[in-house]
Amino acid sequence: MLKDSGTLYVVATPLGNLDDFSPRAVTILRAVDLILAEDTRHSRKLLDHFAITTPVQSYHEHNEAVRVNEAIARIGKGQSLALISDAGTPLINDPGYCLVQAAHAEGISVVPIPGPAAVIAALSVAGLPTDRFIYEGFLPARQSGRLRRLGELSHEERTMIFYEAPHRLQGCLEDMVSSFGGERQAVIAKELTKQHEAVRKDSLLNLKAWLAEDKQRLKGEFVLIVAGRPESGETIPRDEAIRVLQLLMKNMSLKQAVSLASEILGENKNRLYQLALGIKGD
Ligand code: SAM
Repeated sequence: MLKDSGTLYVVATPLGNLDDFSPRAVTILRAVDLILAEDTRHSRKLLDHFAITTPVQSYHEHNEAVRVNEAIARIGKGQSLALISDAGTPLINDPGYCLVQAAHAEGISVVPIPGPAAVIAALSVAGLPTDRFIYEGFLPARQSGRLRRLGELSHEERTMIFYEAPHRLQGCLEDMVSSFGGERQAVIAKELTKQHEAVRKDSLLNLKAWLAEDKQRLKGEFVLIVAGRPESGETIPRDEAIRVLQLLMKNMSLKQAVSLASEILGENKNRLYQLALGIKGD
């Protein structure tokens, strides 16, 4: 830490339930010289509720460059600043990366005040392996980009965590069914810590059907968690395996096609053999 310089605190705020705001977060936000908030009007409600009267300035992607310089200058003069976002932990799909990076470059001490993050809250109740997991944030908005990203993840063995907007959720599940197979286990965690909180664990296909049953279910904020690829058993979606086998079987024997498909898809030979017999029978 630079001599005489202040500290940058990165402070988590509640996802919905104000009781999740930690006493330490309140103490720090009262004590710092300035709070940088993603949306000052949004954060005002939280700060007023906890009688935090510290001055607040906006910090978002459109004024990031200017704010980083100002903040670093203030901290250099001995002030301490806190960064908050609209909900959860700053920098987790929220602004702050440039500021934290700049603070490190200047030798400023950066202190976390930990608290809620939807990714961890959802994972903790998902009932899927938590020893190894990956956080993918939001998938690309366009279907082509989304399918490409999901394709890259088709061999991923770790539990996968995604954030998704309500209007893209059904399309996203549909693409996950075609990329991972409809039987893959997954969890929808919606409105965590809020009135309409729901956590639903089922196969991707059943989750898609569950969402389609009731329009209300598509409202709110969502985390989607998908089990990693099983080490054995059905891994490649049936349709995809059949498509590859059909192409190969046009030009080679069933046995060769199964062997090559197994290499291409990284799929169990026995399963491919059964599928190939079915294709031949047709
Ligand atoms: N910084 C936040 C965090 O720590 O989780 C994430 C901010 S990101 C802009 C907003 C996304 O987080 C939402 O679209 C949703 O995917 C997820 N999210 C935030 N609050 C949530 C909640 N209460 N329940 C479920 N998902 C939530």
